[in-house]
Amino acid sequence: MDIPAQASLLLNGDRRALARAITLVESGRVDHRAQATALLAALAPAGRQALRIGLSGTPGVGKSTFIEAFGLHLTGQGLRVAVLAVDPSSARSGGSILGDKTRMEHLSRDPRAFIRPSPSQTHLGGVARRTREAVSLCEAAGFDVVLIETVGVGQSETLVAEMADLFILLLAPAGGDELQGVKRGIMEMADLILVNKADGDLKSAALRTVADYAGALRLLRKRPQDPAGFPKALPVSALEDQGLTEAWAQMQELAEWRRAEGHFARMRAEQARHWFEAEVRDGMLARLRTDPALRAQMAALGAAVEAGQQAPGAAAAEVLAGLARG
Ligand code: GDP
Repeated sequence: MDIPAQASLLLNGDRRALARAITLVESGRVDHRAQATALLAALAPAGRQALRIGLSGTPGVGKSTFIEAFGLHLTGQGLRVAVLAVDPSSARSGGSILGDKTRMEHLSRDPRAFIRPSPSQTHLGGVARRTREAVSLCEAAGFDVVLIETVGVGQSETLVAEMADLFILLLAPAGGDELQGVKRGIMEMADLILVNKADGDLKSAALRTVADYAGALRLLRKRPQDPAGFPKALPVSALEDQGLTEAWAQMQELAEWRRAEGHFARMRAEQARHWFEAEVRDGMLARLRTDPALRAQMAALGAAVEAGQQAPGAAAAEVLAGLARG
């Protein structure tokens, strides 16, 4: 199918066209890459935007349970919700996390929802691009909210925060000393900390954890994109569907404030620049790895540097000059 036809199906919200287009942006084939770029360019003039919500949390904290309950909450209000997963570690098991779909059984059957499991990709840069482009495709297909889920075990939450309008950290109730367990850098990215499992026996521990994090958040440096009172910590129970209305109300309040104050546009502009620069860097590194002439030059110069025949700086300058000439 040609690009204009694909684009018009997608803009009409055709789910099969969306799924196919995501497969296209995930592909490593050179001809697919060219088609994906053309398709994204054809969709851009529509200028559709969703609220992009990044969600991170360690395995077992309740991400899928939360997304299922929260997603249904949103679709119940008539909103269309897309869920994308970023999970570089899934490459280890050789594919999408087992049952990404069955994990969100009801939501995956909801006609207003679209769930895309994570592909197997080893390279974080590749994951970043495919997710970013998949977000754009979901926006073009008319989704109101795009949830980008990541397992909080590495760099992937930074990557997600760099493509989201709001970033949510999902935590489980903990003993007081576990506050240290959340890396400061991750806390600094959070707009909202949701302490899940605030039910049954865990409720009081969850409320204590909320208070601990609320205190810790107040000590963080204020960012320009934070209105008074943000970032915030709240208790929720994904299992018992508690606190989700309040959590969504807080997300909307924050989103509206950021929109009104121009932070949304600024943050997206900065993110676009960041990704442009990251793509250039990734592309240069890929060429160093794959271009036979460059590899040969690197090997020869590396040997010369090792033998003390050439200084590291001068040898590097030679390679960089070659890269610049293309
Ligand atoms: P994920 O690995 O972060 O996606 O976590 P899951 O959604 O698979 O949940 C891990 C476990 O925590 C499951 O046994 C869930 O039933 C349980 N769980 C999730 N949310 C809640 C909650 O709000 N309260 C309680 N008590 N358990 C929950």
